[in-house]
Amino acid sequence: MNPAQLHGIGMTSRRTRERLRRRLEDRGIRDPGVLEQIGNVPRHLFVDEALASRAYEDTALPIGQGQTISQPFVVARMSEALRRHGNPSRVLEVGTGCGYQTAILAGLVDELYTIERIGALLDRARERIASLGLDNVRFRHGDGYAGWPEAAPFDGILVAAAPAEIPAVLVDQLAPGGRLVIPVGRHGMQKLLLLRRTDDDMEEELLDAVSFVPLVGGSE
Ligand code: SAH
Repeated sequence: MNPAQLHGIGMTSRRTRERLRRRLEDRGIRDPGVLEQIGNVPRHLFVDEALASRAYEDTALPIGQGQTISQPFVVARMSEALRRHGNPSRVLEVGTGCGYQTAILAGLVDELYTIERIGALLDRARERIASLGLDNVRFRHGDGYAGWPEAAPFDGILVAAAPAEIPAVLVDQLAPGGRLVIPVGRHGMQKLLLLRRTDDDMEEELLDAVSFVPLVGGSE
């Protein structure tokens, strides 16, 4: 990354990120690690240059291929939920998209595995993550409905697109005590859920009403 990108000017500066961080704090995000990452990760590098000036607004933005970069509040909320019962060491992310959530998580966990079904998005995300010097992320082009069996079990799984129902395969790839953060339901009526695997059961907590793109089977 060149120095202008790293330090940024105007709308892309660290000061602007600090404003976003305070905004999320005002909206109820409490996890200091997550807030620190919001202050650290340059979100403008994850969107097209034409949208860079809007990168620190708390909104979702288009990233091409009909997909969106998640709203910062939602990224923070999901990351916080994943860490509520202790920081997970091995995490699976389904729906890499532009890689912003990936970058936030990579700074918090030991090993991150991320799957994206659209190859063009995955390639760009991989470049951005490398340019930030993050080396604890493994990428897979494929269908997240299958999870990542070779790397399972995970302490945490975060799904960034909404299935109609919770995929049993993903629940099966959770370690004991593992957490699954996932939006579930049809467009316009999705719930963000935190599931936690106990010894012989699953606990479920409703976090928010949300609006995600659908989790789609297959890859392209
Ligand atoms: N967290 C991302 C949000 C990406 S939007 C970000 O910060 O940018 C959700 C992403 O999930 C899209 O890129 C979409 O292509 C992907 N997706 C949808 N269904 C999928 C599946 N079955 N497996 C993997 N990725 C999927």
